[in-house]
Amino acid sequence: MTAFPPGPGPAYDAIVVGARCGGAPTAMLLARAGYRVLMLDRARFPRDTLSTLYIHQPGTALLDRWGLLDRVAATGCPPITTAMHRMGGVTVEGAPSPVGGVHAAYAPRRYLLDALLAEAAVDAGVEFRDDCRVTDVLVEDGRAVGVRWRTASGGGTDRAALVIGADGMRSVVAAAVQAEPVREHPPLTCVYYGYWEGVPVTRFEAYAVRGRWVGCLPTNDGRTLIAVYFPQAEYPAVRQVLPAAYLDGLAAAAPELHERARAGTRIGPLYGSGTQRNFFRRAAGPGWALVGDAGHHKDSITADGITAAFQQAAHLAARIGADLRDPARLEAASERYTADRDRMLATRYTDTLALARLRADRIEARIAGAVHDPAWVQAFFDRAAGSGPDLVPVPDIRSQEVPA
Ligand SMILES: Cc1cc2nc3c(=O)[nH]c(=O)nc-3n(C[C@H](O)[C@H](O)[C@H](O)COP(=O)(O)OP(=O)(O)OC[C@H]3O[C@@H](n4cnc5c(N)ncnc54)[C@H](O)[C@@H]3O)c2cc1C
Repeated sequence: MTAFPPGPGPAYDAIVVGARCGGAPTAMLLARAGYRVLMLDRARFPRDTLSTLYIHQPGTALLDRWGLLDRVAATGCPPITTAMHRMGGVTVEGAPSPVGGVHAAYAPRRYLLDALLAEAAVDAGVEFRDDCRVTDVLVEDGRAVGVRWRTASGGGTDRAALVIGADGMRSVVAAAVQAEPVREHPPLTCVYYGYWEGVPVTRFEAYAVRGRWVGCLPTNDGRTLIAVYFPQAEYPAVRQVLPAAYLDGLAAAAPELHERARAGTRIGPLYGSGTQRNFFRRAAGPGWALVGDAGHHKDSITADGITAAFQQAAHLAARIGADLRDPARLEAASERYTADRDRMLATRYTDTLALARLRADRIEARIAGAVHDPAWVQAFFDRAAGSGPDLVPVPDIRSQEVPA
């Protein structure tokens, strides 16, 4: 077996850049497997981030498997077991199938979820430095061997066998290793969301008309998150006339929810994004791998990014298994991870693009005849959650041991 990594001072098996939904579980799982892991994030934790909050059943099932679902529930965000989608005049009500015995989705605030995930990584033995920005990846003989970082008080480098970019859509790691998109589509929507009091909901609700899509869900502190999606082309106009455009969009797609919102109070600002890119980057290469938004990003309209990040973390750690310190085996593991990632996210990617075109009229026409068929309704909710036959199970690595 070749000693890893080459060069002086190899302190870590893995360096994970980014400490949220992609990075923290990846770091935690590798540390739990017995590896020495360094996790770096430029943000000071706990810190909120731009995102709505829905975690589908395959995601909550992973939280449960990692022993973290009770901690998420203990933050006070309610379980969400049912959902309703209204497309024009057609309404579909139901619930996704449970995954691993877990029935509920959850929608925790991100400053709570991400801090909890980072804590779990530290509990597993990960060395975590927040307020630490990675500025470059060290590459030797075509292989990533570490990172260069900066803090308020200076900078330095650290080396590892594997550098994992979990640093989001604008990934510095992806740029440094030249992981260009291998599949990409132009942005289709823009979105604004806010938190409301006095607008109680107990389930996930989605309302669509042509050109507008609204989603709402219950989160921490008894608040309700309401998000309004618009076509990408309208972004410059929409952002200029907030909050009127947000309320008009809500009224157009969900008049009854708009009425309820008028009786409630919006707390805090509206948050929004006009940069909802859709791409797959290469998932791994010599000495590096990408998880979460760094490797794959899509429109948030299907609320899949957190779940997808958890799944990538689980698959990468499982595929690496005991092979991180052996270059040839690590390369094979990276290839298996790439195949897993592309297979498990393919349908959700195309479904997301289809929904993000905001053609509720077309979807309504397609499904109107089917909504009274219970089997179709179940398949609809399973597909929306990614909990049906498309769910790619995490490979079992329990029998493997990390060599010293
Ligand atoms: C408007 C909106 C709504 C969304 N709604 C949902 C939803 O309801 N459900 C869902 O599942 N997903 C949703 N998503 C997607 C979800 O937020 C992301 O998919 C998810 O946050 C990805 O997690 P990540 O860890 O890969 O990346 P991020 O959450 O982007 O975290 C990356 C981390 O890397 C750090 N970082 C970046 N660069 C560096 C660097 N150079 N050095 C050190 N650290 C660095 C950042 O500080 C950050 O903490 C939404 C997204 C948006 C924009």
